[in-house]
Amino acid sequence: MLPRRKTRKVIVGDRQHGFVGIGGDAPVALQSMTSTYTYDIDATVKQINQLHQAGADMVRVAVPDKRDTVALKEIINQVKIPIIADVHFHFERALEAIEAGIHKIRLNPGNIKDRPKVEKVIAACKERKIPIRVGANEGGIVERQDKGQRAEEKAALEKDYRGQMVSIMVEKLEEYLRIFADNDFYDVVLSAKSVDPQIVLSAYSEISKRFDFPLHLGVTHAGPPETGRIRSVVALGALLAQGIGDTIRISYAADPVVEIEDGKELLQVLGLRLRTEPELIACPTCGRIEIDLIAMMAEVRRRLAEIPVPVKVAVMGCVVNGPGEAEGSDVAVFAGKHRGVIYVSNNEGIAEQVATVPEDQILDRLFEEVHKFAERVQRGEAKLKNQQVHIKPPDPIGELGSGWDKIRQEKGTVLPVLR
Ligand code: SF4
Repeated sequence: MLPRRKTRKVIVGDRQHGFVGIGGDAPVALQSMTSTYTYDIDATVKQINQLHQAGADMVRVAVPDKRDTVALKEIINQVKIPIIADVHFHFERALEAIEAGIHKIRLNPGNIKDRPKVEKVIAACKERKIPIRVGANEGGIVERQDKGQRAEEKAALEKDYRGQMVSIMVEKLEEYLRIFADNDFYDVVLSAKSVDPQIVLSAYSEISKRFDFPLHLGVTHAGPPETGRIRSVVALGALLAQGIGDTIRISYAADPVVEIEDGKELLQVLGLRLRTEPELIACPTCGRIEIDLIAMMAEVRRRLAEIPVPVKVAVMGCVVNGPGEAEGSDVAVFAGKHRGVIYVSNNEGIAEQVATVPEDQILDRLFEEVHKFAERVQRGEAKLKNQQVHIKPPDPIGELGSGWDKIRQEKGTVLPVLR
């Protein structure tokens, strides 16, 4: 059971779309972003529904243009999941999205800096109890307008890119949050994404020490799943394993459903999300292999998609290390010389040998046992070995006070006192 960092909790959603907690005692929420033009209502609704179906808790849409915010009302009306508006350059889009009934806003401190404009968005969100994510991403955080400041930041980055980038991200987040603190607005989620997993790790670790706002984790521009998967998971997994992170988005240059599938798997293997689908474990194969395990595994995977409970199935290439490696599965097959030995977990959770069958009958017999086991689970006669998710709840929210109170307590006068 992983401990979780203590954070405030924000609530995203409404009765029609459900309420999703971020931070506090809420499980880590999973989100993705549509890749459609938001003004194309049908395509956007279709993709939001696909993401919802795949397991997303919230979906973000880009609203670069007025025609996008005009479409929002109808989109929100047609879906059943909280929607977040990603606002990059024009604060008016945020106000229009709020008016359309959006459930959360994402602002980029690198792009919308003008205090009166930010305050207008804050006031509108406060009135409707809409949380704001402040996303200080590497890509847009270096100063663009003030030439002197830009030159200073660039010079610092040349000396120590990673270290200075983390400093710039954290400093700008702090600076931006003053506006929120001055307006008594604490319905805030923070993010500090980068394409570099090492920057992501350092930035979030640093932010988690300074603020008790919930954190949205992500590695940006990770590329296609084939190359972006490790880049994303190494950073997000390491942070989540330390209890840091309250909502995640994995970003790929691909169908966003893949982002949800991978995000879900990451949370499930860390025990942060209850597994809802069957799980397949299989040995990597080696010189002791006795059957064509790779071909068998593909067929097992295909047939498992039809099983309605999260049964854990192990497919092992031999009996030498197989039983030990398959520990914790509900149904397992161990290959012998052109035959398979099938084990099923009994009512006490102990694996019992139930059959030994020739190789050509392994799949059918394995699935006969998987179906029987799933039915026993559904009748309440058998328990799944998969651990239920027990998230260690944080101490009562408010114990730490605001991020600013925490800063004052920890850093004395080093950091600015804002309230
Ligand atoms: S289960 Fe057997 S075949 Fe598979 S990796 Fe282990 S020792 Fe090798």
